[in-house]
Amino acid sequence: MTIKLDSEIIRNPNIVTRIINSKALLVNYENNELFWLNSSGIFLWDLLSKSIQIEILIKKFQRKYQVNFQSTKQEVVKFISNLFKEQFIIFSKQKKFLKRFPPSFSDKLWDKIQPIAEKEKFPALAEIEIIDQCNLSCIHCYVTKKKKTILSFIEVKSVISQLEKAGCFFLTFTGGEPFLRKDFLKIIYYAEKKGFSIDILSNGTLITSSVAKEIAKLKVNRIQISVYSAIPIIHDSVTKINGSFRKSKSAIKLLRDNKVKVHLACLVMSLNFSTYKTVGDLAKETGASWSVAYPVRARHSGEKDTYRLRLNKQQLKQFVIDNEKEVCQYFIKEFNNSICHAGLAICFISAIGGVTPCVLFPMQVGNLHKERFIKIWRKSFLLNNFRVLTISDLPKCKSCKFLEFCRVCPGLNYLEEGSVFKSAKINCQFARVTKQILEN
Ligand code: SF4
Ligand code: SF4
Repeated sequence: MTIKLDSEIIRNPNIVTRIINSKALLVNYENNELFWLNSSGIFLWDLLSKSIQIEILIKKFQRKYQVNFQSTKQEVVKFISNLFKEQFIIFSKQKKFLKRFPPSFSDKLWDKIQPIAEKEKFPALAEIEIIDQCNLSCIHCYVTKKKKTILSFIEVKSVISQLEKAGCFFLTFTGGEPFLRKDFLKIIYYAEKKGFSIDILSNGTLITSSVAKEIAKLKVNRIQISVYSAIPIIHDSVTKINGSFRKSKSAIKLLRDNKVKVHLACLVMSLNFSTYKTVGDLAKETGASWSVAYPVRARHSGEKDTYRLRLNKQQLKQFVIDNEKEVCQYFIKEFNNSICHAGLAICFISAIGGVTPCVLFPMQVGNLHKERFIKIWRKSFLLNNFRVLTISDLPKCKSCKFLEFCRVCPGLNYLEEGSVFKSAKINCQFARVTKQILEN
């Protein structure tokens, strides 16, 4: 590509920028490319928010940094060529023909951003519980004592904007049931304007035709709907609300009719073990993706009555045989690195403003009603101590013969055994069974 000095150029409007440790990280969601800018790059990038002739750009740079025109010209043209190559900038005349490409999470992009986030210490992905009430009463739900708490609209906006400043790119809204909030679409709109890729975890029962249309318009990345079985009576026996399956299924169809990406998440329990695979059939029928999860965890209050919903040994073996690929992808691969992404590249914010390392790790490291997010993220004693842990700090795991078949989860250790350092028994059982199956 030849760059002429009189060409007018501009930023690609689809690019999302975050300032991280005085540098700017640009993300192009269309081709999953990243680009770092230092302070002089940020100066040029700011000028590119409006259409500008390359020659004027060079002159402005020259004035700012008091350097001679020839060397500046070479440097700026090289900079522009690099940005052009991956479409971070475009010719101004291209802008009106440009297709909108909303921020969207992809595994490929996550694989690039996550190690950078851990190195530069920013929360690339945050999950926000915007309400802790729900219209269903799922038998296994970890939220026990519903406090009827919600962050106000102003507070949610503040959290979103604090996360943007902390370098966050991906947001997941969860509950309770997020669609119980009358202002939920307004919240999505706000986050979308800030360039977040947005996922929603919902039971789907409140998604009407008009809500599905709005979600499609707002370019939500993906909605995850919990489905326990495609046999209505089984699904409803988990949610304890008759007719919930019918409503969730209708939501899946409405969303798919509007081309919204839908993912069906199925937690496997003794109650749905014999029919959980029908969720896969439903996914196929509706064009959704699906995945299974195991095990049912203790409630966040510490109550362990949910253990009775876990699979027996025979069922567990069958589960591993049937889901080998999915089970294997979670094995620990890097024994010398941090145990997982919790508190490093990801974090969770509860409906009462509590910050925890991840949604399944209920160790509160700060509260947004008392401190700004960035202060908690950078200064929390608990978080900073947790971040440096590796498998070799976990007494039982470090020399365990099941380690390579295990997904060690410090959150589960903390929740079920009271300490990050004590291996959760259910994980050990799962790893034991997995080793047995995979080695035979
Ligand atoms: S391994 Fe456990 S604590 Fe770590 S991110 Fe996953 S669920 Fe959270
Ligand atoms: S099986 Fe248990 S002790 Fe062994 S690595 Fe997994 S959690 Fe740790």
